Amino acid sequence: MIASQIFNQIKTETKKILKKALSNKEISSEEALKLLKVHGKEFFALRYVADQICYEKKRDIVTFIINRNINFTNICFQGCKFCSFSLPANHEDAFLLSIEEIRKKVIEAKNFNCTEVCIQGGINPQLKFDYYLEIIKAVKKIDPKIHIHAFSPQEVFYMSKLYGDTVENTLKELKKSGLDSIPGTAAEILVDKVRKVICPNKVSTSQWIDIIKLAHKTGIRTTSTIMYGHIETLSDRIKHLEILREIQKKTNGFTEFVSLPFVKEKPILSKLTDYPLKPSYGMEDLKLFCVARLFFNNYIDNIQCSWVKLGPKLAQVSLNYGVNDFSGTLMEENISKSAGAEFGEYLPPDEIIEIIKAAGKRPAQRDTLYNIMRYY
Ligand code: SF4
Repeated sequence: MIASQIFNQIKTETKKILKKALSNKEISSEEALKLLKVHGKEFFALRYVADQICYEKKRDIVTFIINRNINFTNICFQGCKFCSFSLPANHEDAFLLSIEEIRKKVIEAKNFNCTEVCIQGGINPQLKFDYYLEIIKAVKKIDPKIHIHAFSPQEVFYMSKLYGDTVENTLKELKKSGLDSIPGTAAEILVDKVRKVICPNKVSTSQWIDIIKLAHKTGIRTTSTIMYGHIETLSDRIKHLEILREIQKKTNGFTEFVSLPFVKEKPILSKLTDYPLKPSYGMEDLKLFCVARLFFNNYIDNIQCSWVKLGPKLAQVSLNYGVNDFSGTLMEENISKSAGAEFGEYLPPDEIIEIIKAAGKRPAQRDTLYNIMRYY
């Protein structure tokens, strides 16, 4: 169906917003909220516009990265209500990797042609700041070219307490040791009333913003993320996107936006029963990708799906809904697995390439900063 036919069948108000987006104008938060609520023909009109804007930016190229996750500890005292990964230190499954164990995993990653290691862990009270620096130095000693994408803003905040200095100086120290970029995780939903329920001990919205801006100021790029589909409202989702867009306007430090649906499988989530979890299905995931593509147009060019959270099938579908990055091979993804995600810990590059091709797109391997390394 051509654009004019699609547009003839939808409400004037929606048409106006979509045409505005198609002409590369910035859509407002109110307009984005309206789009998050569309259904039926309007949903497909939204899909058309998201796909078109994505095409104008990226043609038919869908990127992926060969990377490895390393979760160095699952011991954490933060007590986030949604988390099924963290354990107390005395639990039989609690772990803290030694630098030697991390080294072995990095060597495996190098042998596997990973260009990036993504390193994150719980907020473990046994750790000293030196441990984090030693991780970075150990990776760079194995191969200075491996990109270290590590430590959430929450971990950076904790490290600054261990270091006894400001967040800015902590970031400088990390960078000096070899840290390349930071995952924009621990963002969840950047609305304090939601954070007070799901992660009351995490950094506040304003602290998260400050840490990210300081990272960008220090020359450390970050990703941006949202974890949605728990107790937040649609309007909270838009407030979150608005915060990310405002940061990007000032710093241009985000490399990508990653949309992470909340995995609700484990009974631990009964901790949230006072705030019933609403069911969310595939169309809601796809709608958020589309709205993100329109809302971030001209600011964040890379919209990433998470095959771990969505499953490879829905992740593949998302490649026609404004998404241009399939994320990475991951190897050993523990956090989603602990939460009950059923889609495994690893997808080999060949399978990712096939998934992308079958979606009608052209696969390309990229590095962390979205430089294309190889087309397929
Ligand atoms: S989400 Fe992170 S900070 Fe929160 S409890 Fe889990 S491991 Fe700890």
